[in-house]
Amino acid sequence: MKKILITGAAGFLGSHLCDRFINEGYCVIGMDNFITGDKKNLSHLNDNPNFKFIEHDVTEFISIEGSLDYILHFASPASPIDYLKIPIQTLKVGSLGTHNLLGLAKAKKARILIASTSEVYGDPLVHPQTEDYYGNVNTIGPRGVYDEAKRFQESITMAYHRFHGLETRIVRIFNTYGPRMRLNDGRVIPAFMGQALRGEDLTVFGDGSQTRSFCYVGDQVEGIYRLLLSDYTRPVNIGNPHEITIKDFAEEIIKLTNTNQKIIYKELPQNDPLQRQPDITLAKRLLNWEPKIGREEGMRMTYKYFKTLSEEELFKSEHKNFENHIKK
Ligand code: NAD
Ligand code: UDP
Repeated sequence: MKKILITGAAGFLGSHLCDRFINEGYCVIGMDNFITGDKKNLSHLNDNPNFKFIEHDVTEFISIEGSLDYILHFASPASPIDYLKIPIQTLKVGSLGTHNLLGLAKAKKARILIASTSEVYGDPLVHPQTEDYYGNVNTIGPRGVYDEAKRFQESITMAYHRFHGLETRIVRIFNTYGPRMRLNDGRVIPAFMGQALRGEDLTVFGDGSQTRSFCYVGDQVEGIYRLLLSDYTRPVNIGNPHEITIKDFAEEIIKLTNTNQKIIYKELPQNDPLQRQPDITLAKRLLNWEPKIGREEGMRMTYKYFKTLSEEELFKSEHKNFENHIKK
C-alpha cells in the first residue's frame, strides 16, 4: 500500500485530496495545525483504518515514522483576508514549512508535490497566464507575504530537484471552489453566498470589472492527481479558463440563490489582480486534463453545501484559531 503525507489536510483542498487518495487505495497521513482549517472537514475519516492524522505545525521539524512514497504540501493560508491577518505565519509556512517538507521528502526518498498558485503571476501583464510568464508582484505590498512565500516555495523546490535530484512537482492552482470552503474566509464565493444566505447586500470590490476564472474542486483534485503521477517537474497551471468579471459573477449568484440582494461597491483592495485566466494548454497536452464541471453546476453544488451550515456558522465572523496562533 502506497503511503502519502498531505499537509493542510484539514483545509478545503487538503481534505478533498485526503478523500481522493483514500479512494485510490493509499494509506493517508493528514497533517494540520488548524490555523485556517477545521476538524470537521476530516471527521468522516476518523474511523478509517487507512487514515491517520497528526496535529502539527509544519514550520517546526517534522518527524514521520516508517516509509513515505509521496508528499502533498498544501498547508498555507489561501484567502487574502487570512494572509493579511496572519502574514508572518503565511511567510513561514511557504518558506520554513516547505524547507522541512523537502528535507523530509529527501530523507524518505519520496516524491513531493507543492501547492503553488496563480498569485505567483501577481497582477499579470500577460493574459491569459502561461507557465513561462515570470509575473508582476509587488514584493512589499499586502499580498506580497503570500505571493513571495509561494515564489520562494517554487524556487527552493526546483533547487532540491536540481541539487539533490529530488522528485518534485509544482501545481499552480487558479481560484478553486466547492464544499468545505470556510464561509467566513473572505474569498469571493463564500463571501457572496454567505451574504445571500444572511440576506445582506453583495459586496463587490472596486467597480467589479476585475476578472477571475473559477475551477470546481473535483476538477482541481483530478488535475493534481494526474500531475503527481506524471513525469513533469516544471510548474503546471491547473484551473478553469472560463473567465468572468466579479460584477457579472455577483449577478449570477443573485440569480442562483434566488434572492433579491443588491450589489454594493467597496474599495478595491491594494494590488488586487485586475485579470486572471489560466492558459491550460500544457495541462491538456501533458496530463490529458481539462475541467469538466461548468460554473453553473459547480456553484449549485457549493451553495447546496453552504445551505446545510448552522446559524452559528453562518454568523461567525472570524476564525477562532487565529488568536491562539497570533499570540505565539
Ligand atoms: P485552507 O485555508 O482551507 O487550507 C489550508 C490548510 O493549511 C488549513 O487547514 C490550515 O490550518 C493549514 N495550515 C496552514 N498553516 C499551517 C502550518 N504551519 N502547519 C500545518 N498546517 C497549516 O486553504 P485551501 O484553499 O485549501 O488551500 C490549500 C493550498 O492550496 C494552499 O497552499 C494554497 O496556497 C493553495 N491554493 C489554493 C487555491 C484555492 O483557490 N483554493 C488557489 C491557489 C493556491
Ligand atoms: N471580491 C469582491 N467582494 C468580496 C470578496 C472578494 O468583490 O466580498 C473580489 C476581490 O476583490 C477579487 C475577487 O473578488 O477581485 C476574488 O477575490 P478572492 O478573495 O476570492 O481571491 P483572489 O483571487 O483575489 O485571491
